[in-house]
Amino acid sequence: MKRIGCRLLAVMLCALVLTGCAAKEPSPGGASETIVPTASAAAGSEKTTGYGWYFDTLVTLTLYGAQEGAMDAALAECARYEQLLSKTIEGSDVWRINNAGGKPVTVSQETWEILRRAKEISAATGGAFSITIAPLSAMWDFTDGTKRMPTDAERLAALPLVDDSAIALGEGNTVTLPAGMQVDLGGIAKGYIADQIAALLRPLCMGAIISLGGNTYVVGDKPDGSYNTIGVQDPFSTTGNLEGVLFCKNISVVTSGTYERGFAGEDGKWYHHILDPKTGLPAETDLVSATLVLTSSMTADALATAFIVAGSERALSLATELGVDALLITSDGRTLATEGFVDRYSYMTYEAFLGQ
Ligand code: ADP
Ligand code: MG
Repeated sequence: MKRIGCRLLAVMLCALVLTGCAAKEPSPGGASETIVPTASAAAGSEKTTGYGWYFDTLVTLTLYGAQEGAMDAALAECARYEQLLSKTIEGSDVWRINNAGGKPVTVSQETWEILRRAKEISAATGGAFSITIAPLSAMWDFTDGTKRMPTDAERLAALPLVDDSAIALGEGNTVTLPAGMQVDLGGIAKGYIADQIAALLRPLCMGAIISLGGNTYVVGDKPDGSYNTIGVQDPFSTTGNLEGVLFCKNISVVTSGTYERGFAGEDGKWYHHILDPKTGLPAETDLVSATLVLTSSMTADALATAFIVAGSERALSLATELGVDALLITSDGRTLATEGFVDRYSYMTYEAFLGQ
């Protein structure tokens, strides 16, 4: 484990293709995004940027040297996945699973695969990641301003419904949940979709940066073969200051943070959207954010959520055990990283980067 800083931070990742000085690009929906091509990336590889609003998230696709139709194909896939995986769209795979009343449901191979991996990650994290959190996550509203939360009685009554090991996956892509149980793929679906969009775009462009909220996928490298740089940004900085940078190619970087979605309760406490499956309450954690770097964005997504629930000590031991690289920011201002995160991705503070 390496300790590489001590400033109180909440971080978010933004795709940043390196240049001497960062420039701002306008983006819809008020989201702040910084994507700047290098001189070499710009030469011989036309840049196109596409936006969409899917999964309650701003999707930004930046393609370099893309074949005609690549952008449209990628955005159409986002729309298709929304139809498949949304829990609110009637008839989606997830909607049918959640409304099956204990009966088996046949789903697409893709949904089945996400459920299979979710179960594995739930087991590997001692249940810190649990997609069966759904009945509890449905009792909270972190987005609409109503500050809805369950009563203690409602919350305690729903807790026995949280158990990913009870999801039965059968032959022919069938899924059976005990009656009353439901799934919420909010902590893993964007990672799966980032992986699929990356695979779709890889043969269609020279390089791409896929951004789905906290999930970023860097496809390829720069035309000169050098690494792209992902910036770790302070979300409270009005000037878009970066905390640090890491050097990536063909890999996904995912951040989960307690600051991302939530509300201040009547008691002044911050209620955030990452729930502890053991209590049904926002995870009482010493972490503000967890960032993972992995070729599988799906695994990184689920583990980032799990690491927040687990807290810094357990998250670091899980990272070692599972052989993954992570950067953790604690609420008391420490920045902790696995050695691989620093060494493999040459992570450095932004100040150090500028001073190079
Ligand atoms: P974001 O969608 O903001 O990137 P995360 O990847 O951190 O968020 O996942 C949080 C979402 O996952 C929540 O909005 C909820 O839908 C779901 N969720 C909350 N707590 C858990 C948990 N402990 N395990 C699995 N999923 C969770
Ligand atoms: Mg996640």
